[in-house]
Amino acid sequence: MDVADRAARLRTRLADIPCEALLVTNLTNVRYLTGFTGSAALLLVAADDAAELVFVTDGRYRDQAASELAAAGVEARTVIGLEEDARRQALASAAAGPGRLGLEAENVTWAQTRRFGRDWFPDAELVPTGGLVESLRLVKDAGEVARILAACEMADAALAAVRHRLGEGVTEADVALELEWQMRRLGAEGPSFETIVASGPNAAMPHHRAGPRRIIEGDLVVLDFGALVDGYHSDMTRTVMIGEPSETQSRMLDVVREAQAAGVAAVKAGAAARSVDDACRSVIREAGWDHAFLHGTGHGVGLDIHEPPRVARTADAMLADRQVVTVEPGVYLAEHGGVRIEDTVVVTPEGCRTLTLAPKDPQL
Ligand code: ZN
Ligand code: ZN
Repeated sequence: MDVADRAARLRTRLADIPCEALLVTNLTNVRYLTGFTGSAALLLVAADDAAELVFVTDGRYRDQAASELAAAGVEARTVIGLEEDARRQALASAAAGPGRLGLEAENVTWAQTRRFGRDWFPDAELVPTGGLVESLRLVKDAGEVARILAACEMADAALAAVRHRLGEGVTEADVALELEWQMRRLGAEGPSFETIVASGPNAAMPHHRAGPRRIIEGDLVVLDFGALVDGYHSDMTRTVMIGEPSETQSRMLDVVREAQAAGVAAVKAGAAARSVDDACRSVIREAGWDHAFLHGTGHGVGLDIHEPPRVARTADAMLADRQVVTVEPGVYLAEHGGVRIEDTVVVTPEGCRTLTLAPKDPQL
């Protein structure tokens, strides 16, 4: 991963706001720009190329910050402030020049903004900014794709190990725990979000959490989960049928599978994100289930499990080479259960490369 160049790319965008510096408060963005993985830090990036990055954290991260920034090849003036006052002074003196200081409007609280304006940077004009670092994060480099792929492979392997148990009378919670255990054993830092195992009537709720319900014959089981590797997420959904499907369940499985394939086929650099949603939705609409597809088609995946671009009916972005997105249509019917199939894919000039390769066959 080329972490060291990212701040320079951010600088070129500050002129458009315009602002003389950006105070990065979103920890995921701090991580992206510096490699730092701790739970408290601020980063000041000045628009001026000659100005140094100022990285501020507290005493708990003295050694970790030094080693992580060095490993990422990031040069910054690092201030380890044991007291908030010391951190404030370091940033205030670094920001003494800028007239206009950008804040990440989606990330700062009302209270923080007041404190920054009143106590930290009384001479600066604070300006709201949105999506500056996130826009850099949209396109992944080879190292980022490799981490997401590794996370996808762990999820594939975990499902292969656990799948056969679905027919043994286990509970949703058992299955979730075992999937997570398998991913951890394979080297994941953890699950990339709270594992969803939704069976029977629960499967009709797209984001049901794994609970005490025992999985029985006649259930559709929606498994939506992923692994976390070096901060990068994977995201995959498979739906498994326990026993013979009813006529409706069988049709749900066929329609969603066809819709998902149509969505993946529509992914391509230069295609509108909305057209991928449309490709999925038109198959489901044709089947008469438009009302039962209760969410957007997908989302970007990276250092966050849900990040831009959105792949939805109202999305206005175009897909670009090396973006990583999901394609995950579903149909949810209270009396029959639910079916969702989701892949994580990398956008390419010709189409896309699917990273989640677990079989989609619904039979155990
Ligand atoms: Zn998912
Ligand atoms: Zn997803």
